[in-house]
Amino acid sequence: MSFLNKVETWISKSIPSDDGWSQIKPFIFLKLTTDGGYYGWGEAFTLPTREKGIVEIVHNLVNSLSHIENLTPDRFHKEVEVIADGHRGIDFSAATSAIEMSLWDIEGKKKKKPLYKILSSKYRDKVPVYATIWSEDFKNDEKLSSRCEEILNQGYGGIKIYPLQKRTIDQAAICVSKIRQTLGFNMPLMLDLACPKDINISLKLAPLIEEFKPYWFEEPVDGEATSALKEIKNQTGLRIVTGEKQCGINHFIETLAADAVDIFNPDISSVGGIIDMIKIIELSNKNNVRVSPHCWNSMSIAASAMVHLCMSFPNTEMAEFFPEYIPYTLKFCNKNFEINNGFIELDNREGLGVKIDTNLLMENTSSYKFSILDKN
Ligand SMILES: [Mg+2]
Repeated sequence: MSFLNKVETWISKSIPSDDGWSQIKPFIFLKLTTDGGYYGWGEAFTLPTREKGIVEIVHNLVNSLSHIENLTPDRFHKEVEVIADGHRGIDFSAATSAIEMSLWDIEGKKKKKPLYKILSSKYRDKVPVYATIWSEDFKNDEKLSSRCEEILNQGYGGIKIYPLQKRTIDQAAICVSKIRQTLGFNMPLMLDLACPKDINISLKLAPLIEEFKPYWFEEPVDGEATSALKEIKNQTGLRIVTGEKQCGINHFIETLAADAVDIFNPDISSVGGIIDMIKIIELSNKNNVRVSPHCWNSMSIAASAMVHLCMSFPNTEMAEFFPEYIPYTLKFCNKNFEINNGFIELDNREGLGVKIDTNLLMENTSSYKFSILDKN
């Protein structure tokens, strides 16, 4: 018999990365504790101005379910379906993702197994990993190119860039050609177009970069624009990636039905939860579509959940890492992974395998909130 008895949330500070490459966004961390002494960590995706709103949803949701004995991820998922009443939204789904993640962490600790062994019996030992080269500030082609070299020396198996960031279509094509020259043709190069407003931008860029063999063409339009995605998929023949801004499974069903995608990249901390992620993977498999989880989150809790999931489902594509977020994460979290030769390996700790020093986390926190729960 066990009830949740405490919920704690932290919103981390937004600071420049140690290497000055980018501004680290605020992260939302969640710790659930049971009256049996178990605890689990979760993380919610967030965007500017929403952090405290998502934290509020987390506390309200956990409070409303505190009367449930032995709240499992499955039971939580079912309760959320009722509470949501068909209305999801990405901020609500970010909250449910964090809570479900922490319940999975507790499950792992109770069963004394790492999460990937609980999710599947057909797991793999390591997962292909790529680095996203993102900065809010414009970096010219030379800077981007030397950044790519640096990152490749850190063992990643692929690179993602944003060629249209403050570039014209022609400049974007030149950028892609330079980065391809730097990487060589054996290294997967992913292009994220970050949803241009006009479909013609993507359609004009596609033939210009085709010879540089991009591994994928991400968000050539907004993920909701299914017919435009389908048009780009048909006209370009490039691998179309979408899904990071979507939550729940209905959108993914619709996109599969329209044959508008090659790879889905739902975010581990905003899609709704690991159970939704598994449903999306299973549906995608039936349609010869792969899943490559998005993770614009910290490289601690959310990244661990993503890698566990990718280990459990060997036909998932690649795990996404933000290299400059790692030193920040290690200020308060243990290093539970190694990246070598294009793959990431986790150590074999129970649950998610993350160990967070809450005193050190507090030093990096802009807002902390806790609630003691009453099971009655
Ligand atoms: Mg993207």
